[in-house]
Amino acid sequence: MKKNFFIAFEGIDGSGKSTQVKLLKEKLEAAGLKVYTTCEPTDSPMGKMIRDIFNHRIEADHRTIAALFVADRLDHLLNKTNGILKMLEEGYTVITDRYYLSSYAYQSPYMDLNWVIQANSLSAGLLRPDLNIYIDISPEVSIERINKGRSSIELYETLDNLKNVRTKYLEIFELLKEEEKILVVDGNKNPGEIATGIWNKVSSRFLETS
Ligand code: ADP
Ligand code: MG
Repeated sequence: MKKNFFIAFEGIDGSGKSTQVKLLKEKLEAAGLKVYTTCEPTDSPMGKMIRDIFNHRIEADHRTIAALFVADRLDHLLNKTNGILKMLEEGYTVITDRYYLSSYAYQSPYMDLNWVIQANSLSAGLLRPDLNIYIDISPEVSIERINKGRSSIELYETLDNLKNVRTKYLEIFELLKEEEKILVVDGNKNPGEIATGIWNKVSSRFLETS
């Protein structure tokens, strides 16, 4: 019997997270697992508020955004209908497109990193992923992809900001390498090659020995 697990995808905007979440889900289902995919910001009222801020429909300070993310993430985890904990209990393998490492990387330029870590800590009720998969691409490539796909640019989606966010991600991985399981993959290859690399790691870590 295969045991279910919890994976978070991370990376700057346009790095290919949504693409890889979908490909990994297909491979896990083909291997016989029940898979639930989800993302942050969520569809909760807090998530909608975050999206409204990103799309410049409402204005908020970066510290407010950091706190909204914590609230949205707790609901993402604890929601009684479709929260991550509930889905894991029901035997689903859960894949989330972004989780707390996104807050560390995106909010720490505006908030003290320790605040962000504390607010998203296990003591605040957060569940640590069994694996974080970080898709690494250059901010220049990501901006090119974002500009190709969309007509409007969200808050945080500027080249300078994405450069800072990528640097933050890499700093944070170094800082947290003892406690977080982080797999860094090269996002510059084609989607199929990236998916195969991810699948090799995920299947050897979670499936073949169980
Ligand atoms: P994210 O969810 O990280 O923002 P997406 O998966 O939506 O990224 O990908 C952003 C854009 O780049 C999409 O148009 C997608 O089709 C394209 N894309 C995704 N992965 C790759 C890749 N490996 N090479 C080239 N283009 C890609
Ligand atoms: Mg996406």
